[in-house]
Amino acid sequence: MRKKKRVLSFSAALLSLTLLLSSTPVFAAVSTYGSWPSRYQTMYVDTSSTLTVPYSSGAAKWYNATNYKVSTSLTGTVGSYNYRAFNVTETDVDWDGITEHFVYNGEIWKEIVNINTYYTSMSRYTSAIKTALVAHEVGHSLGLLDSSVVETTSIMHPYTFNSAETATVRPMNPSASDISVVNGLYPTSSSFMKKSASGQEDGYYIHPSWAVYYANENELAEAADLVVRGTVTSEAGSKFTRGDYKSYATLSAVQATQVLKGGLKDGEQIMVSQMGGTDGSVKVFVDETTHLQKDQEVVLFLRKRADNTYSPINGDDGVYLDTKIGVKNIATKRLIDLNSMI
Ligand SMILES: [Zn+2]
Repeated sequence: MRKKKRVLSFSAALLSLTLLLSSTPVFAAVSTYGSWPSRYQTMYVDTSSTLTVPYSSGAAKWYNATNYKVSTSLTGTVGSYNYRAFNVTETDVDWDGITEHFVYNGEIWKEIVNINTYYTSMSRYTSAIKTALVAHEVGHSLGLLDSSVVETTSIMHPYTFNSAETATVRPMNPSASDISVVNGLYPTSSSFMKKSASGQEDGYYIHPSWAVYYANENELAEAADLVVRGTVTSEAGSKFTRGDYKSYATLSAVQATQVLKGGLKDGEQIMVSQMGGTDGSVKVFVDETTHLQKDQEVVLFLRKRADNTYSPINGDDGVYLDTKIGVKNIATKRLIDLNSMI
């Protein structure tokens, strides 16, 4: 209990820092990674899915608004199509939706859209929210990346709910800017069609979309099973279920020097798993996931997985480097005052 109070006590300082930083957002159009060679596509949806209506309605948000014409078609053999959508149920991950694209020779060959029913079966996921989540994933499958967190008008906003899980933080529809980016990718004059994901190495690219946004480290700590300060003692290879590319993970051993929350003793070692890795032949790359390196000093906000590894919450959101100038988030470089946690 005492530890938990300490974790909570640093919220005020963090919140003010967050507000300061978020008061000066820089808006930019959503980024893209490539496009299909044709603007007419069919996304095949698993007939047995409980979400066939959200899949078709979510795709229609792009079909009706942009040059990208993605129809949906129900099938009992979804696995035989390169552009496919089906439900998965994963209980120990932070994503409520995920899209994979496969690149070969600089071209997109496959797009696989998954909605995680572990989350969407919760009552707070209304049919409108499920449809908007599908629209977000279809946005990935047509070539868009997640927006930055400050882009609160883009449907490519990476999070669905606020930390209290009371309100959505992602818009329900593509913005005017989203539409114009898509129309740029899929011009009606087909001679201008880009046919590429050029510059991308062959492999699977995974775009996880997070169920909950944690606005600061206090909220991350609340959600975490374990908050630990420690040293990366080794890079421990990949772990995967062959062919299930979203399961591919890279392992690192981390020795705790200080346990800030959770059932671990100082000095104990844990295995941290981060999305993305390789089975020796196929490479899997994951947005917003920077793998730990040996000898890094880190502060990690972790979720315990069923396989007894720990994963940073929401990818890089849960990873901080302990550097000479302070403890800072690996992606945003945002500094936190760890002393007020201790
Ligand atoms: Zn996303």
